[in-house]
Amino acid sequence: MRVSVTDRCNYRCVYCMPENGVRLMDAAQILTYEEITKVIEIAAQLGISRIKLTGGEPLVRNGLPKLVGMIKKIEGIEQVTLTTNGYFLESYIDELADNGLDAVNISIDSPDPERYALITGGGDLGRVLKGMEAAVAKGMKVKINSVLFNDEDWKQMIFFAKDNTVDVRFIEVMPIGKGKEMSGISKEEVLAFMKREGICYSKDMSSHGNGPAEYVKAEGFLGSIGLITPIHKKFCAACNRIRLTASGKIKPCLCYAKTFDVRAPLRDNDMKTVRETIRKAILEKPEAHHFENITGVTEDRAMLEIGG
Ligand code: SAM
Ligand code: SF4
Repeated sequence: MRVSVTDRCNYRCVYCMPENGVRLMDAAQILTYEEITKVIEIAAQLGISRIKLTGGEPLVRNGLPKLVGMIKKIEGIEQVTLTTNGYFLESYIDELADNGLDAVNISIDSPDPERYALITGGGDLGRVLKGMEAAVAKGMKVKINSVLFNDEDWKQMIFFAKDNTVDVRFIEVMPIGKGKEMSGISKEEVLAFMKREGICYSKDMSSHGNGPAEYVKAEGFLGSIGLITPIHKKFCAACNRIRLTASGKIKPCLCYAKTFDVRAPLRDNDMKTVRETIRKAILEKPEAHHFENITGVTEDRAMLEIGG
């Protein structure tokens, strides 16, 4: 289950944050850490064992390491990981590790500081790389997420995996939020570019985690290259994810606006209904997304509002 802890973010990534920002939720609408923990406890009883914390930017919410510790104590939870833009990672890495964080995914779309700042609306790549190095030094599993949304940056990001002992996972841009205005790049285009550059690669069959990424290992590269292709090659049949939004809605699929509210029953202390609602959301997971046909996409919020 991907758990969004906030709709706030210190970045403004071009494919994520709308030009005029998003209408932020009132604090009262957002689940407290105790409430999030209760929902996860019930989800764990239903068989969910792996939690990914996300947002918005999860590290802008106060005390996030404490939440990691609270979730790690829940019976049945095997893994807690974090997706972050990395800006605050170095300052929190000790506390995150002490609270048992298992792995971190850091979003980096360009290895060039100026391009990175442009893409993120003023982000500081040097600071993010320090966070990445601190996480690696802690012995934490670190992966880089990179969105395939234009024709230049991803090509440079391939070489990031050459020089760093971290996997770089490319994900096609999805028609969510600003991503609706962008066209995707397929796995085949990435692999064809690698061939043209004379990079010899083979399928990497070693285990890289729970996700739908297919990995290749290039000769002389320290990290592997992962490819996640929700548009050009749907993996809906194998999708086992659900999302909990920051305001307490269970969201079965990114593509559709449909959500199931657990906040109201939670605040009424009606745990039976919370449980039934999570169950229903899982059972009503749609057969597939319709990202290839924009008229079938009913979700009109940005990724940071949903919990990407
Ligand atoms: N702020 C954190 C971060 O950037 O990693 C976590 C939240 S962010 C919404 C989660 C992931 O969604 C990031 O890796 C980001 O690149 C990705 N993302 C945002 N909008 C997207 C889109 N339209 N298509 C594909 N990925 C997107
Ligand atoms: Fe913020 Fe992450 Fe969205 Fe970038 S992708 S604007 S860092 S939530």
